[in-house]
Amino acid sequence: MRPDWNPTAERRPSVNNRSIVQAMGKAIGGGTSTNGMVWARGHKNDFDHWAKEAGDDAWNCRHVLDIYRRIEDWHGVPDPQWRGSGGDVFVQPAPDPSSIAPAFLGAAKSLGVPTFADQNGVMQEGSGGAVITNVRIRDGRRLSLQRTGSDWAELGGWARETKTCPTPSCAAPDRHGDESGS
Ligand SMILES: Cc1cc2nc3c(=O)[nH]c(=O)nc-3n(C[C@H](O)[C@H](O)[C@H](O)COP(=O)(O)OP(=O)(O)OC[C@H]3O[C@@H](n4cnc5c(N)ncnc54)[C@H](O)[C@@H]3O)c2cc1C
Repeated sequence: MRPDWNPTAERRPSVNNRSIVQAMGKAIGGGTSTNGMVWARGHKNDFDHWAKEAGDDAWNCRHVLDIYRRIEDWHGVPDPQWRGSGGDVFVQPAPDPSSIAPAFLGAAKSLGVPTFADQNGVMQEGSGGAVITNVRIRDGRRLSLQRTGSDWAELGGWARETKTCPTPSCAAPDRHGDESGS
């Protein structure tokens, strides 16, 4: 079974009347079981805009940043202003980037595009730049939400009991195993 719900958008003239597939993970962990594994906090201006639109300061960057710092277990260069350690969410700098990645950064720099050492540091408050991403990968394995924190076993058990487990993946209680089963 493919681990995707395969929803499609309505046909639209703006995309040549095509019906574009909108990938959506069909597994415990949802999209985090099939996504690109990039850990991106989001930009200050977006959070502050949402707070303003919602009339709720809980959405503002300062508040959300506190949550990020609390949940993160950042394994790059420590940076307490922006990054957390000891939380449930293991995050690290891309451990083995393709040689194209630093070359791309060098090219960006040569064109005057600012480059940053950490995607989720001060860069998320400025006017952008180029960076090599942070990833949710540990020992070469994807870290979906299924593998985050201590609730996953309870969730997997619930899914099996209620038969809402859409793939064989959630039937395998191997927290560090490959959830695609391959
Ligand atoms: C291909 C791809 C690459 C991506 N890459 C990145 C990335 O690198 N970094 C990043 O930050 N984000 C990435 N994203 C986006 C990110 O994965 C999603 O934004 C995130 O997973 C959304 O979380 P969610 O909990 O809102 O929804 P989902 O993760 O979609 O979770 C919804 C859950 O509900 C379940 N469900 C739906 N309908 C039913 C039903 N009727 N009955 C029972 N269960 C149901 C689904 O199976 C799923 O488990 C990517 C997404 C995709 C698809």
